[in-house]
Amino acid sequence: MTGLNEKVVLISGASSGIGEATVRELAHTGAKLFIGARRGDRLEALSNELGDAVQWRALDVTDGDDFEAFVSAAKERFGRIDALVNNAGVMPLSPLAALKRDEWKRMIDVNIHGILNGIAAVLPSFIEQGSGHVVNVASVAAHTVLPTAAVYCGTKYAVWAITDGLRQEHDDIRSTIISPGVTETELGNDITDPDVAAGLKEWRKKSLKPDALARAIRFALEQPEGIDVNEIIVRPTAAD
Ligand code: NDP
Repeated sequence: MTGLNEKVVLISGASSGIGEATVRELAHTGAKLFIGARRGDRLEALSNELGDAVQWRALDVTDGDDFEAFVSAAKERFGRIDALVNNAGVMPLSPLAALKRDEWKRMIDVNIHGILNGIAAVLPSFIEQGSGHVVNVASVAAHTVLPTAAVYCGTKYAVWAITDGLRQEHDDIRSTIISPGVTETELGNDITDPDVAAGLKEWRKKSLKPDALARAIRFALEQPEGIDVNEIIVRPTAAD
């Protein structure tokens, strides 16, 4: 048994990458998982593979009403909620001069509004319970700005600030920032600029596997009440 036994944990962006790895990491801890993303077929396959403790519902994090319905469905299924892992994110990188305003908007909608919609959907319950845990996946891009990543970094700086603000306003609710370094996932598959896409491939030569982040998320979630892991930054080394 672990500190997660019978805890109800909600995870967004669970259909691939770090989110999926987190579902797999937590599935055998005794936790009850309610997982969301837009690609319901992938969530259904994951739930079928991992069993009844993993339930799913399609979720678009940019839609605040949909996030509320997702949280309500989790409560209906499992009776309560203990933690939300706000993991969904997108990264269509490009230089500012390319003026890809639609991509800027998508990053801001998913990476910032998505996190805020998640917080809004769980915060009233957490305040009423006098406990709860919000884990927001930011990035090393919340600490440094890189060319072609100005808007992406801007969204991740915002995730960092929002998470720390939540921590400061509610000392009975735990808030954790998880900041991954380069990790081998589907993130960035939607980059439209060929040079930037080639640059990402080069970066990925030294990268983490998503399970490294899943273990960091599990570590933060498993801590007993009274301990709040504020941030974990995980970077790859040159060794495999
Ligand atoms: P993936 O692309 O593999 O996963 C992203 C997840 O977000 C998918 O499950 C996707 O599901 C979901 N998602 C995207 N848009 C929405 C939406 N509108 N509503 C609901 N879900 C959505 O990438 P990662 O696993 O790498 O990304 C996870 C997090 O890690 C992100 O926040 C990312 O910024 C962060 N990160 C990743 C790094 C990396 O190098 N990989 C480095 C630093 C941070 P679907 O399309 O089915 O909706």
